[in-house]
Amino acid sequence: MRSLLAGGSVFDAASGEVSRADVVLDGDRIVSVGTDLDGDEAVDCTGGLLLPGFIDCHTHVCMSQTLGDPFGLPRTARALSAVPVLRTLLGLGITTVRDAWGADAGLRLALERGWIEGPQVLLSLRQIGTTGSIGDHWTPVTGKVDFFGDPSMPDPVFDGPDQARAVVRRMVRAGADWLKVAATGSVAAGTGVHDTQLTAEEMAALVDEAARQGGRKVLVHAHGARAAELAARAGAASVEHGIYLDEAAVAAMAAAGTWFVPTLSCTHGLEDVPAERVEAHRESVRLALAAGVPIALGTDNPVTPHTEALREIHYLAEAGLGAAGALRASTLDAARLLGLAADRGEITERKRADLVLLDGTELDTAGLAGRIRAVWHNGEPVSRA
Ligand SMILES: [Zn+2]
Repeated sequence: MRSLLAGGSVFDAASGEVSRADVVLDGDRIVSVGTDLDGDEAVDCTGGLLLPGFIDCHTHVCMSQTLGDPFGLPRTARALSAVPVLRTLLGLGITTVRDAWGADAGLRLALERGWIEGPQVLLSLRQIGTTGSIGDHWTPVTGKVDFFGDPSMPDPVFDGPDQARAVVRRMVRAGADWLKVAATGSVAAGTGVHDTQLTAEEMAALVDEAARQGGRKVLVHAHGARAAELAARAGAASVEHGIYLDEAAVAAMAAAGTWFVPTLSCTHGLEDVPAERVEAHRESVRLALAAGVPIALGTDNPVTPHTEALREIHYLAEAGLGAAGALRASTLDAARLLGLAADRGEITERKRADLVLLDGTELDTAGLAGRIRAVWHNGEPVSRA
């Protein structure tokens, strides 16, 4: 059964151009893009714009504002809270996500088996870090404790290069696709933001061991410039957040080909964020762009509700990427970071039939969610509640 998406315009993520074209889908593939095509059934896309499915490189699908603090809840609550989140993301045209910790391998299984609907989820399970890092649940009352206490979510705390290799092996054994590392504190907690919590030897051991394990890669939570620079020099694939990058950090990232996933929602999408922090975050994006650091979309939700995920595309556009650049960062470039660009990320023949149809043909990133007319995931139309 060949579906003809007829009469609309198509966004070419590689060039940033919009042109009139029909698209034919067969199974889970795009089989042709051009004019005057035909198919077994037609979908009228007149007046609309087809984009590749969006890819969020940094979200937390097993956390949401409705779930609240996941610690202290039964294990199933966290996993089941992802069911409506995943449906929401798919309805927004987000067809692939990298979970930056919180989801376990059972969620991926449930999606693969079709028990639940959602984007494809790449897993990192837990936030690896050294003693006292944000993944370490130690308290002065309890001492060392793991609030997950769940073999499918292995202990993320390590110290030293040998333990770095061991923690990567634990995560891979439990099904991690990516390794998530915390290299600084968090702005939410307000401590250690400019620290460098790993040694160069520890970071290098994580990256090397991840590569040995099926060519896996490392994403690094880093607000401060020195931690970002360390991550880049060690060969990490991406620096996440990066509120306080500087010239030296972006130079190291550009030299190493390290991606920047700014997650602007964590400063731009919230009230009560000091203006200094919002401006620093924008300056990081400006510096990265000027240095030629590749940028990909990540929301860090649920810092803002999952329903607001597409606002991140607009924040990227306004921070200097422009509409076409922000849409490329949300599709083709995100697919490149995730190693999936041969399979998805643009509307071309043989790529995965993940598409979004917007009302109107203009490349305007404001109010994207309100313009969504239809979504296809693996060639199937997504029913939108
Ligand atoms: Zn995050």
